[in-house]
This record gives sequence, C-alpha cells and structure tokens, in this order.
Amino acid sequence: MRRTRNAKIIATLGPASSSSETIEALFNAGADVFRLNFSHGSHDDHRQRYETIRAVERKVQRPIGVLMDLQGPKLRVGQFQAGVVRLKTGEAFRLDLDNAPGNEQRVQLPHPEIFQALKPHTELLLDDGKVRLRVEDCGPEFAETVVVTGGPLSNHKGVNVPGVVLPLSPLTDKDRRDLEFGLELGVDWVALSFVQNPEDIAELKGLVQGRAGVLAKLEKPSAIDRLEEIIHETDAVMVARGDLGVELPPENVPSVQKRIVRICRQQGKPVVVATQMLESMIQAPTPTRAEASDVATAIYEGADTVMLSAETAAGKFPLEAVAIMNRIIQRVERDANYREAMATSRPKPRATTGDAICYALRDVAGILSVAATVTYTNSGFTALRAARERPDAPILSLTPHMSTARRLCLAWGIHSVYTKEVEHVTDMVNDACRAALQDGFAQRGQCLAITAGMPFGSSGTTNLLRIAWLE
Ligand code: PGA
Ligand code: MN
Repeated sequence: MRRTRNAKIIATLGPASSSSETIEALFNAGADVFRLNFSHGSHDDHRQRYETIRAVERKVQRPIGVLMDLQGPKLRVGQFQAGVVRLKTGEAFRLDLDNAPGNEQRVQLPHPEIFQALKPHTELLLDDGKVRLRVEDCGPEFAETVVVTGGPLSNHKGVNVPGVVLPLSPLTDKDRRDLEFGLELGVDWVALSFVQNPEDIAELKGLVQGRAGVLAKLEKPSAIDRLEEIIHETDAVMVARGDLGVELPPENVPSVQKRIVRICRQQGKPVVVATQMLESMIQAPTPTRAEASDVATAIYEGADTVMLSAETAAGKFPLEAVAIMNRIIQRVERDANYREAMATSRPKPRATTGDAICYALRDVAGILSVAATVTYTNSGFTALRAARERPDAPILSLTPHMSTARRLCLAWGIHSVYTKEVEHVTDMVNDACRAALQDGFAQRGQCLAITAGMPFGSSGTTNLLRIAWLE
C-alpha cells in the first residue's frame, strides 16, 4: 500500500473518530499520523484510541505515526451545568476559582496565576476569540467582566490573554502526568503547546529522553520573536494558527506561516500547518473554495504536513475531510509550478558527507528519472535530510527500527519501510528493490537511487550512493 502524494495528513481523533472502523477508514482515506489531543478526553479514551491505531497498523501492515498533543499552559474555562451557555453582549460574566459547574452568570477559570496578572480593561478572548470579555474588576480569585462580544461558550473552551505575559511553566502538572502516560503507551511524537522560547523545548527534551520526537507548536508572539533558535532546538514544528491568530492579529498569520515554513525548510525540520484548514466540513460534506485554497497554499509553500482538528475529531464528515485533503495535495503536487517552487527554494546543503550525498541523490533522481529514492536510516536523520531536498521521486525509507519508521510518517515524501538489520550492501540493495516492487513504487527495468551509511547500524554515517536497476 502506498500514497500517491508527498505531503502528509494528520487527523485528530475524538468522539467522531474512535471506532476501529473509522480509524481504519481514515487511514485508507489518507491519514498518515493520528493526533491524540490531551486537551480533551481521559487517559482511558486515549489508551483505547492508541491501541486501536496499533491494531489497524497491524492489519494494514503499514507504520502509522501517533502524535500526542500536550495541552500546555493553555488557559481554559471549566464546565457548565448545561454543557453550553449563550453569553449576551453587554451583560456581566464572572470568572472565578470555584469548580462548581457554570451558568450564564459565571464559570470557573482554574488558573490562579491569571487572576494575579489581570487588570481592569484587560481583554480576555474565549473560544479562539469568538467571545470577548473585558475585565471590570478583579481580585486574586475572581474577575468581574462585561461581555464585549457575545456568543455560545461550552465546556473547557480556551482563554487567551494577548498583551499580558503570564508567568507560566511550559509544562503543567497535568502535562507531566500526560507525558509519562503517553510515552508509556508508545507515542511517536510529543507536541508542546504555547512554546515561548528554546528553553521550553530543552525542558521537554530532558523529560522525553529520545523516546519520541518533540514538536514545537508555535502559537505565541514570543515564540515568533525567537523562531530560528526554537526551530533549531526542536525536531518538528506546528504552525498552530488557532491560537496564533488569536494572540496575533489574524492578518499577520499568513506571512508568519510563510516565514516559519521557509525556516523549517532551510533547517530540514518537518513543519505542520494546522487549524481551520477545512473548518466548514465540521458541518458540511464539501469544503469552501477558500478552504481548498488554504490547504493548497500550505502545500505550495512547502509544508510537510497539513492537519485536521475538529473536522475529524468531532465533525460530521471526518472521512470526506481526509479524502478531499488527499485530493488537494495530489492536485498541487502534479502542478509544474509546485515542482518549480520546490526546486527554486532548495536549501543550501551543509558541508557534511550526509548532506552532500542527499544533494547528489536529488540530482541523480532527476537525471536518471529514477522510480524512487531510498534511504537506509537508523535514527531517521538521513531520511529527513533527503526529504529536505524535495526530490522528484518518492523516498523509501528503510529502517530496522519501528520507532523510526513511525516517526517518519510525519515528514514530506517519506514512505517508511520496516526491515530487518542488514550487514552487507548487497542485502540492503536487495531489500530496497524488494520493497520498491512490493509497495508499487517501481517496476522491473526501472532504477532506484539508494543512500546508506557504512558501517550499517551506526547513525549519521551516510556516505554511500548506489544506483540499482530492478531486474
Ligand atoms: P490546539 O492547537 O488545537 O491544541 O489549540 C492548534 C492551534 O492552536 O492552532
Ligand atoms: Mn493551540
């Protein structure tokens, strides 16, 4: 089974997508990685979904990536008695620390730090800015506000306080518990929300200890001020446009997205463009033209991955959303303008053996019109350096480590193949040819461009480029 596109799709799982039939159908429709969103659901919910994904993985015989998304110091309101209330513009609304279920007059905001940082006239943005409150009066345990923009507000909706710097650790106690739970399950990626600086990533890496890849969600203005350093420190990045577009004026989001994608391309770090990509499909079976264009734009810019959130987690048409995203990516990648954009934005190789080989790999792939390129990789590093080159042929990434195979599902163009350890180049070449034939990447008479590092088994030794003809 193979995909006929290079950019990848992340589908968030939730109540609309937890059965094994739906998860398998989402995979077949095009989801390469599933996101477990720890802002919602219990550990039991996530464990069940995780186990279902792994059962589907065994059934379809393809590695599947699992990304756990830590809530981070996201401020959220508590619960409402009725699950949802409708706030009316001009009326009073109180936030406090009381965990009693809320109503139209008040709700819990379980963050003592925020009450300390508030002042009269501070604006609070709720549910991605759909509802606005202005603080009239406040104390260490409450805020009396007036509703500036009314609307529906339901359980656990987010609260942003742009313009106020909150003294918060990047990992809450809940995040630390969730992280241990997720790593124990065996997730492949850990996403950290509301990253503000490279130290936040270093702190997470210290806890993860290489058991998963680390992904920085960029959604704070302070992170945008230190983009290069954060991208350097992290393994992957998400343009988290939901909160980013609340904390920054929405008109700033497109150019910030472009900048982030460009720096990630330069550094060879997988970059995910996320949030509201096909938002209207929560309710409708087809996207708006503007949404189709938004997905296409992210692909044209060179993103590795596009993500679906509520569309697949809680929407009415999760399969349709993945299917149309799949088709949009395929269509863009067939466009000569896309290939030209990838060629002209080709980043400079570093003066390392691995980069030199991967640079040559792209050229060789073009000159010989190879059916596929192949990287033999332990840590996944060489596969990512090859993906950074955006070759015109698919990248088969052979690895003897299931964790590497799964992690690479997030990266542009990589088709992960889990293989046994090899000792000799001929074995590796045979494995590559067999995988290319078996998974439908090549036919007899075509050729492959293969990179590997000798000796096998040690990371970061890529020093071999081999052309193999399929007999
Ligand atoms: P979230 O992150 O869905 O966890 O908030 C994505 C975003 O903010 O865009
Ligand atoms: Mn967010």
